Amino acid sequence: MANQEALPTPDFRAYFAHSMKPTEYEIKFRDALNDQLPSNIVDVHVHASEADHFDITQAQSILDKSASTFPETTIEQSQQIDTLLHPHMNVRKLRFAHAFRGINHRAVNSYLLENSPEQDRVALFGISENDEEIEYTREELRSGQYSGLKMYYCSSSEEKTALYEYFPKPVLEVAEAVNVPIILHLPKTVSRSMDEIRAIVEDFPNLRIMLAHIGVTWTYPANFPATMAEVANYPNVFVDTSGVTNPSIVATALEQLGPERVLYGSDEPLNLLREFTYTNPELGPRLLTDYPYHWVHQDEYEANKHLLPENLMYCELQQVDALLVAIRSVASARHADAYIQSIFHDNGQREFGF
Ligand SMILES: [Zn+2]
Repeated sequence: MANQEALPTPDFRAYFAHSMKPTEYEIKFRDALNDQLPSNIVDVHVHASEADHFDITQAQSILDKSASTFPETTIEQSQQIDTLLHPHMNVRKLRFAHAFRGINHRAVNSYLLENSPEQDRVALFGISENDEEIEYTREELRSGQYSGLKMYYCSSSEEKTALYEYFPKPVLEVAEAVNVPIILHLPKTVSRSMDEIRAIVEDFPNLRIMLAHIGVTWTYPANFPATMAEVANYPNVFVDTSGVTNPSIVATALEQLGPERVLYGSDEPLNLLREFTYTNPELGPRLLTDYPYHWVHQDEYEANKHLLPENLMYCELQQVDALLVAIRSVASARHADAYIQSIFHDNGQREFGF
């Protein structure tokens, strides 16, 4: 479907309603996974906002991406998602705004500070649009109310590519001084961003940095073990597992960084997508899913739906499964439970002050 001009507002409520209906297979799979997890979980990568925090007319550039599927996810919906995916467990969450252009990030920051349950934490969302925004971000950080800082290369009116363009140094100085970790979602894979990683750890030696999505997109980069081995030399850098469904990527991160620097993140609400990655000969890696979301090209779907696995399931279940497979491949049977406790709870609790 074309997404360029004046798109009618997608029916986000229908999307959410569809996602809240698990299949029998998903329920069984979920229960088998949850049996292996601690009953208290810390999730360090959660997006949230209310419907009126989002102006769809400013978000055209994201509408062809799956990241635009659920621009509104309130705290109440977030709690419904817990009941769906981790029933009878306690999930504590680090929440922040959806990252794309068109989100009223100041309103989301206030909403989260005012409405988050006491057990949860909020990461400030800032944009580097102009001096006023940079000053706002510095002031908010100094307020002491936030446990993390997210800035993103696609959030300003013009897309940024260089790290210090979307995480300006005057903001990083404050983050370092108040000891708030940054959540860094790189425009390129971590393997292709090492010059910037080296620069930031040198320029800000006390700044803690969480690489979102283990610093990868789509596929396993060829030089990933060497990249993670270098990252391991920088003790303030750690990774979150959000969006990663490939056990080899998680295993490499665990092997190189150890169990203390890998943190469970869900990427909620995108963890509700039932998604499957395939390689299209013309378009490269692409997603297939189970519902005609506004970003789905119906002809592409029809031509490739035979590739979908019989039991396509929530990305969350794919992610947790990948994590557990990776942990059991890296840790001895004797140590697996300690790894799970660290990754699903202790590391997030320690790094974000839960
Ligand atoms: Zn995310």
